[in-house]
Amino acid sequence: MRSILLIGLGRFGRYTALKLNEMDLQVMAVDKDENHVNKVMNYVTDALIGDSTSEDFLRSLGINNYDVCIVAIGDDFMASLETTSLLKDLGAKYIISRATGKTQEKFLLRNGADEVVFPERDLAIWTAIRCSSDSISNYIELDDGYSIFEIQAPASWANQTIGSIDIRRRYNINILGIRVNDTLMMDITANTKIEEKSTLMVLGKEEEIQSFFHLR
Ligand code: ATP
Repeated sequence: MRSILLIGLGRFGRYTALKLNEMDLQVMAVDKDENHVNKVMNYVTDALIGDSTSEDFLRSLGINNYDVCIVAIGDDFMASLETTSLLKDLGAKYIISRATGKTQEKFLLRNGADEVVFPERDLAIWTAIRCSSDSISNYIELDDGYSIFEIQAPASWANQTIGSIDIRRRYNINILGIRVNDTLMMDITANTKIEEKSTLMVLGKEEEIQSFFHLR
């Protein structure tokens, strides 16, 4: 079973702990504030009160035994940077650090983070895209300009099969799934028919999807 070290149990860290628990992962949760540790006690395998900027404290956790270390400290950038850098020095296998700004992201990557999450930015983008059109119900940004959108199917596609519209070749868009009446169908073939008022889960270049579905 994958084991996770989660440092920083503010709101972000707490929701991360809840989700990790839901997925049955083994979690060691750490915060310097006892109240924050108490709040996640029932959702994690182990929890400790401690300062993650203390090398001795971190060393005592046996850092290289964890598959992933998450640094969920947000506002205190020095603590986040020091923790990330110490984890790297102590042999962490994979570090995911949380940034609250572009500069922080850059420094965290330079100082040991293998990956940086930037929740405020990511959620702001999601919110802006989501409200740019009534027809978008979900959006996931991927790398290299690609995205996944959940979007209402054009009325002109209703009752036609994916093969007959020739969606991938003509529009450079891949249909990953179709939602009809709240049921998501994932086994999509050329013979799959697009029902009226269905929602498509489409993958493609963000600009091409936006332009095809008239989203900008
Ligand atoms: P959130 O936005 O997730 O609610 P926050 O803004 O309340 O977080 P942050 O400063 O981002 O607070 O810190 C997140 C958590 O990290 C807090 O619970 C804080 O006690 C903890 N934390 C901060 N510095 C350290 C440290 N050096 N060692 C351990 N825990 C720390």
